[in-house]
Amino acid sequence: MHFTGTVYRNPYWETFPLLQITQGCTHNKCKFCTMYRDVPFKMQPMEWIEQDLQEIASIVPNARTIQLLSANPLAMTYDKLAPILEMINKYLPKMEYIYACTRVTDIKNKTVEQLKSLKDMGLREISLGSESGDDWTLERINKKCSAADITEQCAKLTEAGIDFWLCFLNGVAGKEHSLEHAIHSAELFSQCKPMLVGTGGLTLFPGTPLLEEAQKGEFTPLSEKEMLIELKVFVEHLTCDCYFNTHHTSGIHLSGSDFLKRKDSIIKALEHEIEHGDMDRLAAIRQNKRSL
Ligand code: SF4
Repeated sequence: MHFTGTVYRNPYWETFPLLQITQGCTHNKCKFCTMYRDVPFKMQPMEWIEQDLQEIASIVPNARTIQLLSANPLAMTYDKLAPILEMINKYLPKMEYIYACTRVTDIKNKTVEQLKSLKDMGLREISLGSESGDDWTLERINKKCSAADITEQCAKLTEAGIDFWLCFLNGVAGKEHSLEHAIHSAELFSQCKPMLVGTGGLTLFPGTPLLEEAQKGEFTPLSEKEMLIELKVFVEHLTCDCYFNTHHTSGIHLSGSDFLKRKDSIIKALEHEIEHGDMDRLAAIRQNKRSL
């Protein structure tokens, strides 16, 4: 198999075979991320993709699922992507479910008709690395994507019948804008109606511009308690039914389907953690994290 740089496997789809169709990230400038800093964006050579598919087919000829890599494999145009999906179906004829993480802006260069066609070829689910629904925050972290982009591209995915996830990056607005980040993200996500809302907490990794800004006093990170308070505000304002997934360092179990039925119990669990959680332990866990 031809893998280049960081390989991100969605932990919820851990049995999906991985197929790299691009290398690196087209943007590579989000202020909290170093995942693909050393890997310039490129399309994977078609012969490598074909060889990898032959290898997957030799091991799991009846594979029905697959995850596309790398950071934003859907950045390529429909005309480049469609032949790859056709090739997937040729080597794996039982294919039903193609999944990919990608940037919101990668949907812009595709029409709804093209998205429907990709769905017919098996593209069923996309994780969108939105991080926030608040324009100030998106600008602050150099996401190069606006709240309006998220709304517009999610509407296209909905019309095409492709399921999507939206991700909230807890803490990424710092103290300066925490409340607005939480409220505006929850409001925007609720409007977009994703099948899944995922939340992760900001860790300031070495080499990230956000860590440098924090060291110069230009960005004020949230304490562990403030992260939990921000997450609670986000949950309180989220009004769409969805699968809710969270990776908080506390390890409190908040993930599951039927968000609206569970919303009150999630808020209570967060309140309990805010009141009684061991914040030193949470900070120590975060300090030991090595990647997003
Ligand atoms: S967060 Fe995603 S879009 Fe931003 S630089 Fe990292 S991989 Fe690229």
